[in-house]
Amino acid sequence: MTEDSIKYPKAVVFDLDYTLWPCWCDTHIIPPYKKTRKEGDSIIDRNGYVLTLYPDVKPIFEHLQEHNVQIFTASRTVTPKRAIKLLKLYELESSIVHSEWGSFSKKNHLSRISEKFDIPLEEMILFDDEYRNNDVKSIGCGFGYLPNEELTWNEFYKGIKSWSDHYHGENNLKQNNVKTNNNYY
Ligand SMILES: [Mg+2]
Repeated sequence: MTEDSIKYPKAVVFDLDYTLWPCWCDTHIIPPYKKTRKEGDSIIDRNGYVLTLYPDVKPIFEHLQEHNVQIFTASRTVTPKRAIKLLKLYELESSIVHSEWGSFSKKNHLSRISEKFDIPLEEMILFDDEYRNNDVKSIGCGFGYLPNEELTWNEFYKGIKSWSDHYHGENNLKQNNVKTNNNYY
């Protein structure tokens, strides 16, 4: 896959726990916590527990910004304040346009983002480690599943390509009666 062959959506929405970092921030870490120089993007909590941001997160955020894709987060954590603190310590906060919180289906989170920022649901992809959250597809959003509970380049490109093929690929073009040159079969 080449860069030129794929389209990007207007917005990408990320889950937080086990998508950006390896913990449940409401139970695994105890405030106060602060940044440690130990391993790059790591924080240390009150009990000495060290939590390190997944290594591909920041490069993927930068990549999205270079492609003018807006970044959002959607989380069901019961401790948004802890999550916000982590986003600040990891220096991700300034890259994120807005975060949505709350229980129930993430269809709610994404619908609110769509309404607040006037972004069509079809122009959004949710990346999430929980497969049940693929219910966002029922309202038109893309879904990038992270089966290994971690945002990586590999899964990121799979999600982007899947969305790009669905909305801009050959099948979509054919459905719209756009003539293509792929008469190989
Ligand atoms: Mg998660």
